[in-house]
Amino acid sequence: MSLMTAKDLDYWLEHVRIYANNGEVADYIPALANQQPEINAAAFYALRGECYTAGQFEYTFTIQSISKVLSLALALIQHGENAVFSRVGKEPSSDPFYSIRKLELEDPGIPLNPMINAGALSVTNMIRGRDSDEMVNELLTLIRRLCDDETISYDEKVAKSEMETAFLNRSLAYFMKQNGIITGSVEELMDVYTRQCAIKMNVKQLARVAAVFANDGRDPVTYKPLIPLTVARICKTFMVTCGMYDYSGTFAINVGIPAKSGVSGAIMGVIKEEGGIAVFGPALDQQGNSVVGIRLLEKLAEEKRWSIF
Ligand code: GLU
Repeated sequence: MSLMTAKDLDYWLEHVRIYANNGEVADYIPALANQQPEINAAAFYALRGECYTAGQFEYTFTIQSISKVLSLALALIQHGENAVFSRVGKEPSSDPFYSIRKLELEDPGIPLNPMINAGALSVTNMIRGRDSDEMVNELLTLIRRLCDDETISYDEKVAKSEMETAFLNRSLAYFMKQNGIITGSVEELMDVYTRQCAIKMNVKQLARVAAVFANDGRDPVTYKPLIPLTVARICKTFMVTCGMYDYSGTFAINVGIPAKSGVSGAIMGVIKEEGGIAVFGPALDQQGNSVVGIRLLEKLAEEKRWSIF
């Protein structure tokens, strides 16, 4: 394995930028539709080392589904494995992230895993708090610690835009409420979930989150524990089995690192004991993954021999 350098990141991002023309920006959340495909960025946060950046690395985006890893970490910290996995499963779905189909087939109606929307809604429903503000704050507190940055917050416009159009996610939530998987107000849950998905970061901040996972839950600089080892391990395992939508199997073969993607065009990737990588490029492929992000990770994983397999 050869170590990452600032030059590598620059070189490969420049090389793969062209693929932005091969994808489409997500538009089912209206506020995401005006993202610019030509804005691309990457950061690599090395353990006990530097953070390299390339492209428009100060640009902030909403993390969308990447937040599902962090809400899962929080629910596991707050309630433990048994409680969490009584309300969400551990198996890949091989259906799109928004699919409702398998909820009806599964007995007793538990969503297959925490990386699909149904599973993420069930996980978010477990976050402690008397109301949606307190629940969002619990999550932000954890994320600010992982980023070592108190300024991390959410994009109100994107949250509102999703809240106004999240008919499918509401259906999933109501279906699960009927089956007793979700408790309380669905509208309040949607309020937390849409704010969670709208949490804003740049690639440096996201690469730091990935670096915490690469360091088994410890701060990448001080090595202070931030997430329990078992929680970090569970999150990384889900990233491998279900982190890249229904491309997770191919991604495991072509790249071979725990990674999570979001429809905003962000991807975070975990390189064990080496560091965290984040890529942003809003043009998406058919499965909903950033085309530039996938290409960059393929190139780097090949050159640096990152695959864990
Ligand atoms: N907020 C988005 C949704 O629930 C997240 C989807 C994603 O990034 O995969 O539809």
